[in-house]
Amino acid sequence: MPTLKGQKPKPQVIQIRMGDVPFEVCAACKGEVFIQGVKWKKVSAIQSLIGKEEVATWPALICANANCQTVVGETPKAGSA
Ligand SMILES: [Zn+2]
Repeated sequence: MPTLKGQKPKPQVIQIRMGDVPFEVCAACKGEVFIQGVKWKKVSAIQSLIGKEEVATWPALICANANCQTVVGETPKAGSA
């Protein structure tokens, strides 16, 4: 039986046609354009596991509609990495 030396398994590529996928819209104004922002929290030395003040950040999206500006994106719960 021939061996396939040096041949790595191909990563599975999920084929999607982007035209079939609807844009996510703002729940408040149905707008399709968002601005990327960052949410952050300061964790005090007392609360921190490493005993030092820490800053935690994660991405958030802001509705680009100037009259809306709803922030999209969930705040990770405490304890989830
Ligand atoms: Zn909006």
